[in-house]
Amino acid sequence: SFRSLRQPVPLPPPDAPLSFPAFAFSLLQQSRAPPLLIPAGPALLDAATGEAVSFPAFLSRVRAIAGALRSRVRVCHGDVAFVLSPARLDVPVLYFALLSIGAVVSPANPALTAAEVSRLVSLSGANVAFAVSSTAAKLPAGLPTVLVDSPDFRSLLEDGQGEELALDTVVVRQSETAAIQYSSGTTGLVKAVALPHRFFIAMVAGSHALQAKPRKDHERTLLGAPMFHSMGFFLAMKGVALGETTVVMTDAAVRAGIRGLVEAAERYAVTEMTASPPVVMGMTKERCRLTALQRIICGGAPLPTAAHDRFQRRFPHVDLCMGYGSTEGGGISRMISWDECSHTGSAGRVSENVEVRIVDHITGEPLSVGQQGELRVRGPSIMTGYVGDDEANATAFDSEGWLKTGDLCYIDHDGFLFVVDRLKELIKYKAYQVPPAELEIVLQSLPEIVDAAVMPYPHEEAGQIPMALVVKQSGSKLTEAEIMDIVAKQVAPYKKIRKVVFVDSIPKSPAGKILRRELANQLQLCPVSRL
Ligand code: AMP
Repeated sequence: SFRSLRQPVPLPPPDAPLSFPAFAFSLLQQSRAPPLLIPAGPALLDAATGEAVSFPAFLSRVRAIAGALRSRVRVCHGDVAFVLSPARLDVPVLYFALLSIGAVVSPANPALTAAEVSRLVSLSGANVAFAVSSTAAKLPAGLPTVLVDSPDFRSLLEDGQGEELALDTVVVRQSETAAIQYSSGTTGLVKAVALPHRFFIAMVAGSHALQAKPRKDHERTLLGAPMFHSMGFFLAMKGVALGETTVVMTDAAVRAGIRGLVEAAERYAVTEMTASPPVVMGMTKERCRLTALQRIICGGAPLPTAAHDRFQRRFPHVDLCMGYGSTEGGGISRMISWDECSHTGSAGRVSENVEVRIVDHITGEPLSVGQQGELRVRGPSIMTGYVGDDEANATAFDSEGWLKTGDLCYIDHDGFLFVVDRLKELIKYKAYQVPPAELEIVLQSLPEIVDAAVMPYPHEEAGQIPMALVVKQSGSKLTEAEIMDIVAKQVAPYKKIRKVVFVDSIPKSPAGKILRRELANQLQLCPVSRL
């Protein structure tokens, strides 16, 4: 029988040695009586094939892989493991195994180009990689690589094949880095974000506390978010700690698009799922009833109010709960119950273990209820910093240690957070990060382009698309379509420029910085909350 999962989990003392997997497995055991009673469903389910991994098999696979990584692959405590894989059932197993031996997991989008992958590998200082046969060629030559779709790796996953390692063999401190994710933060190019074990411990403890609805039966959560992104990475591991079944949208299922997602939700009677705004919007166009679905958590970008209303009319039995967070600041706010969902337009209340304040983003002066300013966050589920980038770290935090989110927000009298606009230089295409600076470098390196700036342009389905403002050399015959084609060959598909406008000049500060807000005003672009 389950004990109520609604009680907040006290955070362990910060100095106690404790890896995230050790915490997750101890939570799993505490939540049932007698200890080790097997939860009602499997730990993982493959949405495409129906293959299931039970909780005991999951634990045994983690221990077998952890043992093999240490003894055969010679992965050591502190090594940085770059993971370049599409969604597979064995990816969460790999994450747990690496974390339990004190290795740092650094997952990246398999759609990136080889040049983009190389940049991330050098930013994180990865010294070993895990890939599949179709992504391995993108990794830099000389980086030792394990193929997770090889028969050798598969045989390690079969129960009893490896030398199983007890999960407390390696002493891991909560302050040690567990994951390195990638984000451009509030400005500039992509950076390597260090997230400690305590970040994930605090996030799971918070999720535990936020299970507000009485559970009718065994929870099955659909993992639609990509496992390389900070939210998907966390969700891929959270279910194990909370004894839920995680239905993984593996690569084959992802290829079936939103149809595949709703089919999986119906076939496996999914009770909860996490989705980006374009997915929520797409779901209303599908023929389905989703009778088992109780709650959908939508985040990563704003959801237009009309789309929110359309979803609730189409699926009145489902709580559409907004959530807000970031790679650097974790899950900052979330709605948890039906009555909160009536606060349309809000991103919910501040999560457990998170402290927030709203300040004037220029002066840093704290603001009060209802006033718009930059949201700043503090607490255990915050990044340690950008790896090897003192300059970026100096601007990411203020003098009191608050992380600057770069989002313009306000909090109302009832404690609900509203995200009004983005102060930072970031485009979110279908909730994926596209740093404008990266595309500007590509454009500015083209011979017939004198200057260029990249801005977010509102788009009904994607939220925003990258738009280039280009100053051409006089006499150049370069067309909009040619520019889009040239850039598309050099970047991952989701970063493509999808609109080009020729201009006479780009407004710049005396120091040469693009004046983005001035550009946005000139172009009369609306804030993200009014897309
Ligand atoms: P990422 O680091 O990729 O998770 O992106 C984080 C950024 O996405 C935030 O700083 C916001 O700008 C945006 N974002 C995330 N969730 C929401 C939301 N619910 N509403 C508006 N913007 C959001």
